Amino acid sequence: MNPAYPFSAVVGLADLKLALVLNAVSSRVGGVLVRGEKGTAKSTIVRALAAQLPQVAVVAGCRFHCDPGAPDPRCPDGPHEPDAAGALRAASLVELPVGASEDRLVGSLDLERALTEGVKAFEPGLLAAAHRGVLYVDEVNLLHDHLVDLLLDAAALGVCYVERETVSIRHAARFLLVGTMNPEEGELRPQLLDRFGLTVEVRATREPDERAEVVRRRFAFDADPEGFAARWAAEEAALAARIARARAVLGSVRLPDSRLRQITAVCAGFEVDGLRADLVTAHAAVAHAAWQGRDVVTREDVRVAARLALPHRRRRDPFDAPGLDERLLDELLNQTEPAATDDHDPDDPGGPEDPDDSGGPGSGPGRPEAPDGSGDSGAGDGAPEVAPEGTPGGTTGAPEGSGSATGSGDRPQDVAAAGVPFRVPVLKVAGVGAGVAGRRSSGRGRHGRTIGTRVPTGAGPAAVDLPATLLAAAPHQLRRGRRGPGLVLKRDDLREPVREGREGNLVLFVVDASGSMGARRRMTAVKTAVLSLLLDAYQRRDKVGLIVFRGAGATVALPPTSSVEAGAARLRALPTGGRTPLAEGLATAAEVLRVERLRDPDRRPLLVVVTDGRATSGGDVTRAAAALAGVTSVVVDCESGPVRLGMAHALALRLGARVLPLESLGDLVRDRRKAG
Ligand SMILES: [Zn+2]
Repeated sequence: MNPAYPFSAVVGLADLKLALVLNAVSSRVGGVLVRGEKGTAKSTIVRALAAQLPQVAVVAGCRFHCDPGAPDPRCPDGPHEPDAAGALRAASLVELPVGASEDRLVGSLDLERALTEGVKAFEPGLLAAAHRGVLYVDEVNLLHDHLVDLLLDAAALGVCYVERETVSIRHAARFLLVGTMNPEEGELRPQLLDRFGLTVEVRATREPDERAEVVRRRFAFDADPEGFAARWAAEEAALAARIARARAVLGSVRLPDSRLRQITAVCAGFEVDGLRADLVTAHAAVAHAAWQGRDVVTREDVRVAARLALPHRRRRDPFDAPGLDERLLDELLNQTEPAATDDHDPDDPGGPEDPDDSGGPGSGPGRPEAPDGSGDSGAGDGAPEVAPEGTPGGTTGAPEGSGSATGSGDRPQDVAAAGVPFRVPVLKVAGVGAGVAGRRSSGRGRHGRTIGTRVPTGAGPAAVDLPATLLAAAPHQLRRGRRGPGLVLKRDDLREPVREGREGNLVLFVVDASGSMGARRRMTAVKTAVLSLLLDAYQRRDKVGLIVFRGAGATVALPPTSSVEAGAARLRALPTGGRTPLAEGLATAAEVLRVERLRDPDRRPLLVVVTDGRATSGGDVTRAAAALAGVTSVVVDCESGPVRLGMAHALALRLGARVLPLESLGDLVRDRRKAG
């Protein structure tokens, strides 16, 4: 097998290297989430790190990597003798594919054999393999919901728990969790986001010299991996030794009370949720001090830790920009800086060793502080969007007042701002689907409430329904020659449960952005409503798509995707005006749905048409609506004013859709809350 690409040979990516190293130094830092574009050597560097982790001693023959010094008392391969023979092996790097089955992740318990042969047959999964090593999830944001739940449970408890009906198995599963994601492809559930200790944003360097060096080294490595690794062996050995040294002193690094209070003040200043941020920041600061060869945590350690531990915890909703405001960070640090006598680090720059790879935040080439950013921010940076300030989860229904400050003067088109999103009523697809797990419509799957049982088809039962299986076996016992206790079970007796839970859908928005939608104020209300629906779709694990019609035709502003962020960005920038080609909007929706049915046949669509229903140009609306027969639809009626034409109702009749007046979207939720 080829050697891994050397960690030391990775060009740039100082923050990512540092975050990984801090995790190698201290297992309490809690993993790394790497956010960024594709093609940034994310997996190369993770593999390289695994090779840098100290070897672990394992009980010979144990599939669960028990430590010979302290074997897991419940190890399925145990019990192990107190001083069982051990062997040193490299820390494992286990990759969890996003499409993995539940059995692959937690292991599989062969219930068929357990019931018919009386043996407890357990095949360990990836969590067992990752124990005491690294669990790496590329594109972690695309991981299925039920896998996320299992992963969260294991990460929280350090135990993998497998239960099938009454048979259960558990084993230790503690691992360094490293995930990567491209935010363009969808966000992460908040619980999972919180589970990662640190986050790092990466992008390939734009520096031509650095890019050339990346390519040069990659060439050299591919041509001769052994020789390349040998040339970097000294650096790698030094790095491994430094990690080992830091681990050895970790326990004796002091976190003075004044520094701890500085950490909590910074966390409070960034308005993070819960206390996990404070804990992770403290652990990361201690790890950084150990890495720098210090025995007491300094301001620099706190700064580095906060920069890596806080960005993903202060995000309120998927529409906020990522990253951490470093100016605010420094301000908070200044305000809470203890007196110089308090701990003996009067701005000592810290450990002198290896200044080049310490990844100090001030030293990197990537962060040119705006030399004079004090002027008002709206003027020159070309981003006149009105940011939705305040808490988005709130119930500030009426969005009319909020969007006032969009500078339209320097723009050729009229772009209305969006207001603060509010909670919307749950819109569901009728009937029962079989789509991927989610939180919107009813769906059959492996999860949810048991509503019946059936004879398994295909490869065998995914789960066994015990009462139904016993009932199926009972009538045959005499004929099968049962004498003593214990039923005689045959494969044919097995029954599996039929479960009903909830599925995610494709929510396709068709938004009228024509002049008939009138004043900017109304378009602000429309954008706010659609933004609120988008946020809701994100929380329900839906795919979303956005079609816009105005002027000469309809365009797919956002092809179906899991990235609500992208949807929100397109929506915000959406100009309005021109005529109303309603039929084209509907025809485009029908075409998008046709293609999506081919691509993702189990995902059922929900069509949300946002319009006043007036068509002032284009084709035949009746015919276009007919092409959407059978699709669950909602028309959000945007007509306003004292005299109303009721055109949206006419459209809803053609689509067989429910009508929701635009202004009622926020009110519906409030009424429902009041009602209980
Ligand atoms: Zn064991």
